[in-house]
Amino acid sequence: MLRTAIERPDLISAECVETGENPELADKYDAQSVPLTVTNETFRQKGLLPEERFVLEMVYLKHAEQLLEEMQKNDPDMVPEVAGLAMAEGLTPAGEFDVVVAGAGPAGLTAAIYAERSGLKTLVLEKGVVGGQVILTPEVENYPGFKTVGGVQLMEMIASQARDYCEIHEGEGLDEIKIGKKIEVITAKGRYLAKSLVLATGASAKLLGVPGEAQLFGRGVSVCASCDGWAYKGKQVIMVGGGNTALTEALHLKNMDVGVTLVHRRDEFRAEKHLQNGIKKAGIEVIWDCGVEEFLGDETGLKGVRLKNLKTGELSELKVDGAFLAIGWNPNTEIPQQVGVTLDQWGYIKVDRNMRTNIPRIYACGDVIGGVQQIATAVGEGSTAALAVFEDISNPYWTKAE
Ligand SMILES: Cc1cc2nc3c(=O)[nH]c(=O)nc-3n(C[C@H](O)[C@H](O)[C@H](O)COP(=O)(O)OP(=O)(O)OC[C@H]3O[C@@H](n4cnc5c(N)ncnc54)[C@H](O)[C@@H]3O)c2cc1C
Repeated sequence: MLRTAIERPDLISAECVETGENPELADKYDAQSVPLTVTNETFRQKGLLPEERFVLEMVYLKHAEQLLEEMQKNDPDMVPEVAGLAMAEGLTPAGEFDVVVAGAGPAGLTAAIYAERSGLKTLVLEKGVVGGQVILTPEVENYPGFKTVGGVQLMEMIASQARDYCEIHEGEGLDEIKIGKKIEVITAKGRYLAKSLVLATGASAKLLGVPGEAQLFGRGVSVCASCDGWAYKGKQVIMVGGGNTALTEALHLKNMDVGVTLVHRRDEFRAEKHLQNGIKKAGIEVIWDCGVEEFLGDETGLKGVRLKNLKTGELSELKVDGAFLAIGWNPNTEIPQQVGVTLDQWGYIKVDRNMRTNIPRIYACGDVIGGVQQIATAVGEGSTAALAVFEDISNPYWTKAE
């Protein structure tokens, strides 16, 4: 859009709004951490879309799926390769690849770089936006080669390197796997055939599952302080949790001038000592031995929380404008489980030292396999997975005699 606005200012005028600096506009358009494009005040596109799709939707002011349906009604024989519109299930496959990588965090992007550099035609599918969890991290200070680097900046560098090699489809997640002669990878937008599949789907934030949470999610309840914290400048929030993430994010909020209180169900933190010292030094209040029983609010958003002291059973209410949850992660394994990929006792995908799962031609790497869950390990495992794919495509171990 910016390109068209620059090239044809007579036709298109565009305005980029930084939501952190313009909270009233963010409220008006209900914009959160995901990029949002509003055209002529009527048509909304959420997330980073592939360029062809974005332009097509902007031109017709219709979502691609609706457009595809209308085009097929007019011409049932049409092969919908128009503007990157993917194939619905049952139609011709949208493409054939040596490797499809699911997930564009550090593990998936590294696997893609290594796979293409091994001569394997690679596609990366990313359910959300490129970057994975690292884009939630304001500063990374333990990735070798960089004393300190912004999470977004680091991932932009890795993604730009990966884009030089292969296609990355943002906003297109892996929805289903079918195993046949080739592996069929099915998304809401397309069906791809691949010789192998690398799962680098990371982990998702755990929720509390208490009343009010689902209704107020995105309207006061959040799992990403680095994404949504700016909206609470000068306001009061709680941070729920007692691990490294909870304490890091509480410090981050305090630094943004947000009034933050930590709520923890135990009487001591699991987080590293230096973070505990940071919390004390920053004067962040801690409510010990308490869990959230209910999120209180209405259609305008969160107004408070009901807390329960887990030792005494006493209930209390606290007025807050926001509540951030940092209580752990669930590995994203739902789809591979459907084809029998084996998990370990903690629910992470089980792999051998070459990142092979129990299903031939399916590999996994990064946070989805557990371990120490760091960027450096995700990158290492991504490269190992891609090299194993190359080795196995050249010399398939599953066809050898036992
Ligand atoms: C707040 C915070 C701070 C951190 N700080 C550090 C740090 O300082 N240093 C450090 O080394 N590590 C840090 N980490 C950990 C680090 O971010 C992770 O270990 C790393 O991102 C794991 O990479 P990954 O590629 O395995 O998974 P992720 O980064 O989780 O990426 C997985 C990607 O897969 C996508 N996905 C999920 N399901 C699907 C699907 N079905 N189809 C397609 N795509 C899918 C997700 O949208 C996501 O983009 C931090 C994590 C957090 C949350």
